Amino acid sequence: MGRRLLLLGPPGAGKGTQAALVCTAVGIPHISTGVMLRDHVQRGTDLGKAAKAIMDAGDLVSDEIVIAMVEDRLSWDDAACGFLLDGFPRTVAQAEALDALLGGERPLEAVISLEVIEDEVVQRLLDRAAKEGRADDNEETIRNRMAVYRSQTEPLIAYYRNADIVRPVDGMGGIGEIFGRIAAVLSAS
Ligand code: ADP
Repeated sequence: MGRRLLLLGPPGAGKGTQAALVCTAVGIPHISTGVMLRDHVQRGTDLGKAAKAIMDAGDLVSDEIVIAMVEDRLSWDDAACGFLLDGFPRTVAQAEALDALLGGERPLEAVISLEVIEDEVVQRLLDRAAKEGRADDNEETIRNRMAVYRSQTEPLIAYYRNADIVRPVDGMGGIGEIFGRIAAVLSAS
């Protein structure tokens, strides 16, 4: 069963964790621009070198770069039967580009919107910073990522509401509990 899904939510909402569970359950590839960009940084590619400072500050890498990355990834064979996008689109311009890429024949089916309490996710990110030492996880950067999310990414909920594909899911609770809610929403839509 091919499914074309998008997981939307603020930094720290647990998108990566839930995306991995959904992809295993549904049998679709997990397409995360954050993972792809961090891979470029790690490999020291030109793109990675250009993106690192932007990511460390919690700002957004240019639409042009991430759109080209996703366009390439969506052309792989494994994406023909569905995919789950995580961390893309993050701006209305990216969402418009995605619509154009998918075309009328295979539009997004569902946008799972993880709803969380901001203070709690900021705390989660601070805890992760202490454990993993990610450069984009200090408090100032985290606050900036939240502000960027609110101004640039949250408007996507209204964008996708027009297409009637937004599925809000309560993102507070245990990993299994949240996954159960997502699975229920997906089997109903
Ligand atoms: P999160 O921890 O919020 O899940 P990601 O792993 O998705 O963050 O992304 C990490 C960083 O990579 C972002 O803060 C941003 O700098 C960059 N990035 C990822 N996806 C995009 C995108 N679609 N557009 C612009 N920048 C992006």
